[in-house]
Amino acid sequence: MRVKQFKAESKKLLDLMINSIYTNKEIFLRELISNASDAIDKLHFKGLTDQSVGMASSDFRILVTLDKKERTLTISDNGIGMTKDELENNLGTIAKSGSLDFKTENKDESIDIIGQFGVGFYSAFMVASKVTVTSRAFGEEQAYKWESEGAAGYTVEECEKDDVGTDIVLKIKENTENENYDNFVEEYGICDIIKKYSDYVRYPIKTLRTKSRMKPRPENAPDDYKDEYESYTELETINSMIPLWKKNKKEVTDEEYNEFYKNTFYDYEAPAKVISTSSEGMVSYNALMFIPSHAPFDFYSKEYKKGLALYTSGVMIMEKCADLLPDYFSFVRGVVDSADLSLNISREILQQDHQLKAISKNLEKKIRNELSSMKDNDREKYVEFFKTFGRIIKFGIYSDYGMNKDKLQDLLVFYSAAQKKYITLDEYVTAMPEAQKFIYFAAGDSIERLEKLPSAEAVIDRGYDLLLCTEDVDEFCLQMLRSYKEKEFKNIGSGELGLETDKEKEELKSASDEAKDLFEEMKKALSGKVADIRLSSSLKEHPVSLSSEGPVSIEMEKVLKNMPGSEGVVSSKVLEINASHRIFETLKADFAAGNAEKVEKYAKLLYNQALLIEGLAIEDPVEYAKSVCELMI
Ligand code: ADP
Repeated sequence: MRVKQFKAESKKLLDLMINSIYTNKEIFLRELISNASDAIDKLHFKGLTDQSVGMASSDFRILVTLDKKERTLTISDNGIGMTKDELENNLGTIAKSGSLDFKTENKDESIDIIGQFGVGFYSAFMVASKVTVTSRAFGEEQAYKWESEGAAGYTVEECEKDDVGTDIVLKIKENTENENYDNFVEEYGICDIIKKYSDYVRYPIKTLRTKSRMKPRPENAPDDYKDEYESYTELETINSMIPLWKKNKKEVTDEEYNEFYKNTFYDYEAPAKVISTSSEGMVSYNALMFIPSHAPFDFYSKEYKKGLALYTSGVMIMEKCADLLPDYFSFVRGVVDSADLSLNISREILQQDHQLKAISKNLEKKIRNELSSMKDNDREKYVEFFKTFGRIIKFGIYSDYGMNKDKLQDLLVFYSAAQKKYITLDEYVTAMPEAQKFIYFAAGDSIERLEKLPSAEAVIDRGYDLLLCTEDVDEFCLQMLRSYKEKEFKNIGSGELGLETDKEKEELKSASDEAKDLFEEMKKALSGKVADIRLSSSLKEHPVSLSSEGPVSIEMEKVLKNMPGSEGVVSSKVLEINASHRIFETLKADFAAGNAEKVEKYAKLLYNQALLIEGLAIEDPVEYAKSVCELMI
């Protein structure tokens, strides 16, 4: 028999396949099953107008069988089959795509055929040392056998086959030092792959499963009879066939969505929100997305990979397509199915695909709208969501030089000191008294501690609300926003709070001028520690507090301290002294009496107290403790 050569471009591709460019070889099965499903589509479609097809819809199936001893895997379909010419043309060359021809002939959109992409059939050579295709085309009596062991070429000869359709037998490669192929002749391995990639192929994919059962007890079984087991095989349908995302929302119960989510994404808890959406027109797709109730354990680690599963016509082509989700929505999980995608094996090409870009843009908007409506209609649930994933959204505002801040700022919620609940920026601004110029916020590690800060009390005393920010990213995020609805953000830990009236300001200024020399003396004692010492009129009971000047706040200093490479970054601190506190009087009196030593000691004491109030560590705790004791005796 004459061995025929593959056409040039096919040979190249074949070489690539044999020396596999795919890292996940298992996708060969997806490709072969997709081809089988296409072939069934074609016969199914023909049957709609041609009585002679004589097949009921329910008869269509794809059979996957294994022979472990022979190391063979067989994929068998009862689709349209291939003639001798078709076997030669379709499998001998890649330039010709039968599916494409069929689609243009039958201008019917309802029959959508995958297989316009990829290298399909040839991927079999990634795992097989020999591929045998036996096919009988619809309307033909004679069947043909196409066989190839790879690059050397292929043969085609007549053979026997009872039914219309195609059987593809793969002789699975022997293991090598680096590759193990045994999984492809294991029942569970094959079932897993089918479930993973071809769960939504619309025809049943059946395979023989080995099961075990108890043998019936003999009638006169003795008392000490032990039950015996036997194994048997049974045809089982592996795939679930109808994709949930293609179903009408109204026809799917919450329960079904939840189960799907849990099974697909291995979560023990139902999702917080299900987002089902579809589009027709420029790009058509169905998407089913979920917002998890809790963060996956690896969410904040490098190992976590964002992305949605990408399907085309029910067949998975990518498990996590990262390009479908912006980083700030990386917590979303789900599935996108589009028949429009012009898919290729290469990720680079996928990235440039404008269809994909259009889909991802729509999805981003959809997620944003859904979150926004959850925020408006179910605040309690939203706050829970935000506590879990808000950090990612804040990072989204902060990163890319604030490029996405306008889109995301209305998704923020912060704890309001006045209202004792989470509120939006819009709610804050709407409730602002006319005289209030700034949006005040305090940043620190706990709400309880922030509420008690001297400057926090000062703001609240004025009748102004205060946002209490407890996440490390908060200040960076608000600094990036700068303002909201023309109101600037003001960190209460950064000096000038704009709380005083003009009269108060004046009084403060004259008192400061008077104490100028005293402050100079104190600064000497605290040299290198504080940038300035100022009088404040907003501290009530507290004698002192610390604030900061410049871009790095005290809270930021704490955050940065824990980041590699930023250890040396410190804030420029200002010691604020309560103008109406008795301690200020004491300081003035000691200074006037020329008691420089006391002034120095008090300056240090007060500075250390302020550090403690801010939750910062004292540089020399022993000295501090000693000084306090000295005062007591
Ligand atoms: P593609 O599916 O992208 O066209 P393939 O290399 O997978 O590329 O297949 C080439 C062609 O071979 C298909 O278009 C189809 O016409 C034909 N073919 C492959 N598998 C089958 C099958 N099981 N039954 C009928 N035709 C098939």
